[in-house]
Amino acid sequence: MKTEAVVIGAGPAGSSAALALSKSGISNILIDKRLAVGVPVQCAEFVGLNISGYVDLSGVASAINRNIKFLDVDTGKNTYRFDGKGYMLNRDIFDRHLAEEAVAAGTKLITGARAYKINRQKNSVDVLSVSGNISFEIRYDYLLAAAGPKNVLGLPENKTYAYAAQVKARIENGILNGTESVICYFRPYIPFGYGWVFPKGGFANVGVGIEKPASNMPLSLSLSKFIEEIRGAGLIGTGIAEKTSGLIPVSGMNEKITDGNIALCGDAAGLTHPVTGAGILSAVISGSLLGGYIAESIRTSKNLLADYEEELESIFKKPLSAASKKRAELYPLMTCAESIDEYIKRLWPSFAEYYA
Ligand SMILES: Cc1cc2nc3c(=O)[nH]c(=O)nc-3n(C[C@H](O)[C@H](O)[C@H](O)COP(=O)(O)OP(=O)(O)OC[C@H]3O[C@@H](n4cnc5c(N)ncnc54)[C@H](O)[C@@H]3O)c2cc1C
Repeated sequence: MKTEAVVIGAGPAGSSAALALSKSGISNILIDKRLAVGVPVQCAEFVGLNISGYVDLSGVASAINRNIKFLDVDTGKNTYRFDGKGYMLNRDIFDRHLAEEAVAAGTKLITGARAYKINRQKNSVDVLSVSGNISFEIRYDYLLAAAGPKNVLGLPENKTYAYAAQVKARIENGILNGTESVICYFRPYIPFGYGWVFPKGGFANVGVGIEKPASNMPLSLSLSKFIEEIRGAGLIGTGIAEKTSGLIPVSGMNEKITDGNIALCGDAAGLTHPVTGAGILSAVISGSLLGGYIAESIRTSKNLLADYEEELESIFKKPLSAASKKRAELYPLMTCAESIDEYIKRLWPSFAEYYA
């Protein structure tokens, strides 16, 4: 198979890149190892209102589960409320919508297909169907790596990860029903990270993210303590389903995001916010940008990936480096409710003190 651009990974970054390529008339193949785009969901599913500037959700109302107005930060000593306008997504529908838009514009999507080897000399990538019985090679002019946090295939790696685990917890007693908040909890038993309760219709995404090896708290223990606490507070009932886990890059933008005719975007490029873990919007932004630069590179027969890297750095490098530094400096000091409450204002970007 031969194409002008191959995109590995049909998450928000890859599908946004594929859409930008197709809109510019560049032939492209988007592959994903999942059998169905967006499933299973490994995300707390909150995104700020500004996503609407990048993704048109007007024709896909079901991608939005509920509107959110506030972000509450609970330190164990105090609760702080911020403007947190945004959406709880149905991330499976959101991701599928992005991929479908790309396909409608001309992208060839192949699911259930895992890229496992890049052959630099040949400009080709080897792909194996997840069933294991079909293998094929895709030759390309440019390769876009959008395969999420754990880069494989010899591509540049993220340095540090938060390890996150989440369950869907049934809301049985009504405290969270109709709430307009997402809530973040800082606790000593969730070291170098936080817990979240993000309500959707009838249930809430309840999870924790902690950093290893900085903390030696087992992830499953941290999660079970958290569930116990919020259940005790009456926020959720006993019904728990769909345990998922995942990695979140927390060291900021990768030092290297391009290599010849290969470039990274989204989590693969380390674009999640090191403190909040948010990465959906930056995946969409970086994917769209990368698709645009590659389209222009092909159109002008001039490799413009250095310009992509420069633009990405101008948007993300400084804020993500600053957040990564704050993680390293402040989390070790946050060992009890008192100290969490003292340092949270410098750690969490909703507080004005964060920017001082
Ligand atoms: C538990 C958890 C909760 C989160 N909550 C939030 C949140 O509330 N809000 C927010 O903004 N961000 C959140 N994030 C981060 C957010 O999910 C990511 O930043 C976002 O998904 C990044 O998009 P992406 O396209 O770069 O990568 P992904 O969404 O990870 O997509 C990568 C795709 O590549 C595919 N793939 C991987 N390897 C291969 C391969 N070898 N061959 C083919 N396909 C491959 C995968 O199947 C996947 O579909 C959360 C992350 C986790 C783990």
